[in-house]
Amino acid sequence: MNQATLILIKPDGLKKSLTGNILTRLSETKLEIVAAKMARVSESLAKKHYQHLKEKPFFNELIRYIRGELHDRYKVMALVYWGENAIHKCRELAGTTNPEEAESTSIRGSYGRITTAGVYENVVHVSSSEDEAKREIKLWFKPDEVIVDLYPVKEITEKEYKEHKERVWL
Ligand code: UDP
Ligand code: MG
Repeated sequence: MNQATLILIKPDGLKKSLTGNILTRLSETKLEIVAAKMARVSESLAKKHYQHLKEKPFFNELIRYIRGELHDRYKVMALVYWGENAIHKCRELAGTTNPEEAESTSIRGSYGRITTAGVYENVVHVSSSEDEAKREIKLWFKPDEVIVDLYPVKEITEKEYKEHKERVWL
């Protein structure tokens, strides 16, 4: 069954120049990249992305981490991988959440670390279920930024959407 999954190369991955390496590892899956961009991570986006962890003691530090404040890299690379069993394949290559417990040849096992503040700096994010992937992809990408039709969309006329401001090329 074809699935989509959101991958983020987190600020530590960018700072350690691991982008090429991570994309090469992910290419082993033979999945298709159907969306990709560099993105700044606003506080609101970060908090929505990690809403399931908001009660955790490390939440504030986690928000600082994903926003790039720990690495002086105020961006992440966001991608959508699509194809057969995409979530399991990408999670397997990424390794488990705690980089010290992750398989040593996995991406997190190879490049992750635990900070003195106790946050797992584990280089990549990978959605862990279809529901999570759907929520996250809709949060990070607009429908027109994804080159396959993943989820239902609606069209909004400018009248209905008059508060909306968008920057366009001059
Ligand atoms: N995290 C952490 N300590 C924990 C659990 C999670 O620092 O005990 C961080 C880690 O960076 C992780 C992110 O919070 O990747 C999201 O946690 P989740 O449980 O969703 O793990 P994931 O899906 O990323 O493997
Ligand atoms: Mg997760």
